[in-house]
Amino acid sequence: MRAIQISSAGGPDVLTPVELPDPQAGPGTLLVEVAAAGVNYIDTYQREGIYPMTLPYVPGLEGAGRVRAVGPDVTGFAVGDRVAWAEQLGSYAELVAVPTAKAVPVPDALPDDVAAAALLQGMTAHAFITDTYPVGPGDDVLVHAAAGGLGLMLTQLATARGARVIGTVSTPEKERLARAAGAAEVVRYTEVDDLAAAVRAHTGGAGVHVAYDSVGATTFDASLAALRTRGMLVLCGASSGPVPPLDPQRLNAAGSVYLTRPKLFDYVATPDLLAARAAAVYTAVGEGTLDVRIGNRYALADARTAHEDLQARRTTGKLLLIP
Ligand code: NDP
Repeated sequence: MRAIQISSAGGPDVLTPVELPDPQAGPGTLLVEVAAAGVNYIDTYQREGIYPMTLPYVPGLEGAGRVRAVGPDVTGFAVGDRVAWAEQLGSYAELVAVPTAKAVPVPDALPDDVAAAALLQGMTAHAFITDTYPVGPGDDVLVHAAAGGLGLMLTQLATARGARVIGTVSTPEKERLARAAGAAEVVRYTEVDDLAAAVRAHTGGAGVHVAYDSVGATTFDASLAALRTRGMLVLCGASSGPVPPLDPQRLNAAGSVYLTRPKLFDYVATPDLLAARAAAVYTAVGEGTLDVRIGNRYALADARTAHEDLQARRTTGKLLLIP
């Protein structure tokens, strides 16, 4: 099969198109023809060695496709079924072996590309909005990188729960997308001197109930300073780099605020949790309450360009590789 392989940590140039032996459908496993593979920011952390990987490896932890073969002991799935997954299985490839415990059935009405694009960021946003901090009516919610893949999902889900979203973005085009997703206010954080003050000004000075900060290094201090008393900072990424170590006393000084650093995989840790979370996302997409913006599609061999675009802030919404 054709695949992308990484043999040493580094920049986007280490994403190398290769021919590899086809994976097999082992016990409890489905062999899936990949229709679309999701590109996620975490792929860049793994590629750079920030999250160490065993080398060489095929990147990619999201995709959707059709079952070509089922392994021994497989129940509940058959050849021809459409499935999606959000797990490090090497989806930058034509074929992927998916354990049934990680396979999510794709509803008939959902195209493959939408199924792939919705799953990881959709489940993440769903987990963070419903469980990490249960967003509700009247909440002021700060969403950084609001026109990004995760940001558009967070913005829509928080708005749907009756919250008022203040989004941050870097360009007028991204501002338009954030507003279309429901953001009541948008701050172009690259253009303000005091980001926390700009956010607070949209809350009558009180500060936000919760801040979703996937940008990290460049926004963390402002996120903390933009919280209201006993607000919560959900640090959920490091697109601009990791946040340095923190003195807990800063949480006291900021107003007895809460800080959490969640990851999706702890919110879909069992097959039941995964099934329920995926079903909630796919139902919202099917009903039209969650719009999935596919910002760009790339050929598998152009994975390098996809990573370059993502890290250069040139993208909006979801990026897909089409094998
Ligand atoms: P995005 O589509 O959000 O792309 C990243 C965006 O971050 C850019 O478009 C840009 O938007 C913004 N950004 C701000 N500063 C920088 C910078 N210095 N370099 C690059 N981008 C910057 O990506 P994803 O939706 O895939 O992921 C967003 C974040 O969420 C990532 O940090 C990812 O790791 C995290 N995440 C965490 C999960 C978890 O379980 N904790 C799960 C899924 C994602 P702008 O131009 O508007 O500033």
